[in-house]
Amino acid sequence: MGRAFVYVIIGGGVAAGYAAHEFIQAGVSSVVLADVQSECFEMMFVAISFQSVDLVKFEPNYGSRVSLQSKFVLADVQSECFQMMFVAIGFQSVDLVKFAPNYGSRVAPYERPALSKGYLLPEDASEVTVILYYVSLFENKGTNGERLAPKWYNENGIELILGTRVKSADVRRKTLLTATGETISYKYLIVATGARHTVDLPTSELTPGLKALKLEEFGVNTLDAPNVCYLRDVADADRLVDVMQSRSGGQAVVIGGGYIGMECAASLVINNLNVTMVFPEAQCMARLFSPKIAAFYEEFYQSKGVKFVKGTVLTSFDFNSDGKVCAVNLRDGSKLPADMVVVGIGIRPNTSLFEGQLTMEKGGIKVNGKMQSSNSSVYAIGDVAAFPVKIVGETRRLEHVDSARRAARHVVSAIIEPEKTGEFDYLPFFYSRVFTLSWQFYGDNAGEVVHFGDFSGNTFGAYWMNKGHLVGSFLEGGTKEQYEALAQATRLKPKIEDLAELESQGLEYAFNI
Ligand code: NAD
Repeated sequence: MGRAFVYVIIGGGVAAGYAAHEFIQAGVSSVVLADVQSECFEMMFVAISFQSVDLVKFEPNYGSRVSLQSKFVLADVQSECFQMMFVAIGFQSVDLVKFAPNYGSRVAPYERPALSKGYLLPEDASEVTVILYYVSLFENKGTNGERLAPKWYNENGIELILGTRVKSADVRRKTLLTATGETISYKYLIVATGARHTVDLPTSELTPGLKALKLEEFGVNTLDAPNVCYLRDVADADRLVDVMQSRSGGQAVVIGGGYIGMECAASLVINNLNVTMVFPEAQCMARLFSPKIAAFYEEFYQSKGVKFVKGTVLTSFDFNSDGKVCAVNLRDGSKLPADMVVVGIGIRPNTSLFEGQLTMEKGGIKVNGKMQSSNSSVYAIGDVAAFPVKIVGETRRLEHVDSARRAARHVVSAIIEPEKTGEFDYLPFFYSRVFTLSWQFYGDNAGEVVHFGDFSGNTFGAYWMNKGHLVGSFLEGGTKEQYEALAQATRLKPKIEDLAELESQGLEYAFNI
């Protein structure tokens, strides 16, 4: 049993959704999109058939039966926590098998960035829809883009099948095998399987129980405590909101000082929790911020009541008789009381389907400037792809939505118009919004750093210089024009003769170049 397709996308995030959009824009409709973000949803739906969408909802533990008249197939893939799966691939009727409680999928590809920002805030939560919007990359339309809800895929000839896992891939034969034994063959495959929390086990070893044990890599057992929260998908975010609201006024411990830690800590404060952040480095956002920039944000957080415990990690939890965590024990011997814990200790790319078959680098699938892997029929984009970042002169894996969007656009062009498509030339971009603050970063934070602006005021920033050239820039509290100027200046990689001069010109330098 099997079906053949020309274009198959494995993934259910921004990269996959944007790539699907690009195919449609290019007039290609026979795309198979395989959803991924299906680890822990209680309700499932499957969007079936070329002409119309049936929305089928299931209660946990219940199977069902639906009729399919699919022209194209979109198979979900990476739902590593599912024990039992269903598959919907073009038969007149398909048996939907029973699946484990709380596992399934209810949403089409969506945007994650909202999950750690507005989605967690009491006043904004109802306004935030976790649906993917296709926003024109070059017109900067904010969220007024095209709404890529399940209906959109259907109307555009893409079969979107959620809650279906691809169990294995054979890049030599160009086939994918789903959990129910169906084979999907492709001419071109785009891998957009993203990343997950730190524990990266082979799919076969993953069970729902393991999902909560992401701290086990560090020898910490959470015992599935209901008040230990992660944040990677919309179900995690919903759970975090529930726990946060039920512990109002209590103590929250945030493990990790990266993006999730910083953004969640701000939301916890706004939701009236007393927050302590724990991380091993000497400063927050150690992957990106200079010590001076980090000091500004830490002081700002402290002014909001956040405490920082740096240079240590947790070693174990104490549990109360309900099985909830009531304290966090740290390596330095101290104990932090906790009514809830939020864990943001990084992610791992979902590469397991292709281990041993494709060349890997930096923990991801190595691709060239056309996003093409070591197998010429397989392309990779988003968090899972390690691609040549030209401006930096090395291969990198960039965990960011902007990179996913732009790579999606590039890969579709590279596949359908290879002769007209050059090398992906991406300027790394990161941003965050916390409390009333908002920053953007472009390029690379390598080499020497000079700071500018008023660190006690609203607008300040930094430039990074490497081998005599400006390679990176950062700005807090900028205007749209200022951010654009910084991005342009960074892209030019200008030679810097005089650091002191650059420092004194500050933001003006970006406008004058
Ligand atoms: P991260 O890599 O940004 O930060 C990980 C943090 O965890 C670091 O501070 C690290 O030192 C710390 N850590 C690692 N092991 C630890 C341990 N045992 N105990 C305590 N701390 C430990 O990862 P994240 O914050 O988990 O974010 C996950 C992903 O989501 C990243 O790819 C990130 O880029 C992305 N994200 C991005 C944004 C944004 O761009 N604004 C927002 C949210 C999430």
